[in-house]
Amino acid sequence: MRLWNSYPKWPWKHDDDIRKYVDVPDWWLVGYEEVRGFLRGLTKAQFSSVGKSAGGRDLSVVYYGPEKPERTLCVTGGTHGTETEGIASVTNIIKLFESGADLRGKKWPAFQRVAKRVGFYLMPLYNPDASARSPVKSYVGMPIDLKDHSDGVHHLHIGFWKNGQLPNRKRIFAPWSKDSDMTGKLDRVGYLGQRFNDAGRLINRPRSRKKSMAVETMQMLKYLGANKIDCYMDLHSHSSPPWLGTCPEAHHAGDYEQQSKLFDLACKMTQKSGGPELEKGWQGATSWYNSHFFPANLGIYAFTYEAMAGFKGNYPAKTPFEEIWLANAYNGMYTILGLAQALLKVPSPWK
Ligand SMILES: [Zn+2]
Repeated sequence: MRLWNSYPKWPWKHDDDIRKYVDVPDWWLVGYEEVRGFLRGLTKAQFSSVGKSAGGRDLSVVYYGPEKPERTLCVTGGTHGTETEGIASVTNIIKLFESGADLRGKKWPAFQRVAKRVGFYLMPLYNPDASARSPVKSYVGMPIDLKDHSDGVHHLHIGFWKNGQLPNRKRIFAPWSKDSDMTGKLDRVGYLGQRFNDAGRLINRPRSRKKSMAVETMQMLKYLGANKIDCYMDLHSHSSPPWLGTCPEAHHAGDYEQQSKLFDLACKMTQKSGGPELEKGWQGATSWYNSHFFPANLGIYAFTYEAMAGFKGNYPAKTPFEEIWLANAYNGMYTILGLAQALLKVPSPWK
């Protein structure tokens, strides 16, 4: 296990102390150590593990639901470590299933009802190596010039070299190539970004239909298959309003008609349960993402969710921070609820 310096000389243009972004509400439970401690304290969860991260950290999953669920849903947070919105959604759902209320004390009877039929495999930290080295716990209020790709949050997200320069962003966001990973270049890295595991592998860019260079994703493929999980959902954040995306037909080995039906139903049921009107995204077939890779290999349903991150500029300037955190955690929870309800209306891909 490698310990990284999470406070290198930060090439941050703003008159703003990056260290303040660990100040979050108590119920915003997203830090690596805190989440590990929280998991250790659970008494009703069934624990399992996908395996180990590149840095040797456990890929823990907690299960809540019936012994013989009608459908199963796996939700992963923290795939990109500083996108903590998804971690907050998952830890709040865990607390809800554990104690009857989320970390703020809110009850969700509809969630409790659906968990009598749907089994939830909850993984707050898909990329624990990144979460462990993250210097921040939230994006809320963080300055960023979204048009300037060398600004603010981008340093956190893709990291920087020892000279303070950003790695080639186009390469990192393009389809996987040998040059898009940081493997073999780690001694030149000043701060390893949140898209990578400790081996410098891009966590969410499989290289092909058959192979991901990230050990987390290859182990997850086995785990989803071994547990015959019906649906996979990966949680992220950026600048769109709450967004639900699905892979193209070319990246789906299962019943794409049912995947599309589930997509429509999930959006409708999310809104009906009190959640946001989701923006729908059909992702292209030029790049592989985990939410393409798993359905391509297993024929299961899969989605990517993006919360609207709390960077400056995403919300009206006077929006109280608490309101942003709430929207970030709860919109994700409502979407997971809507998806679980919708899942009962389509056949299991394993039948
Ligand atoms: Zn992301």
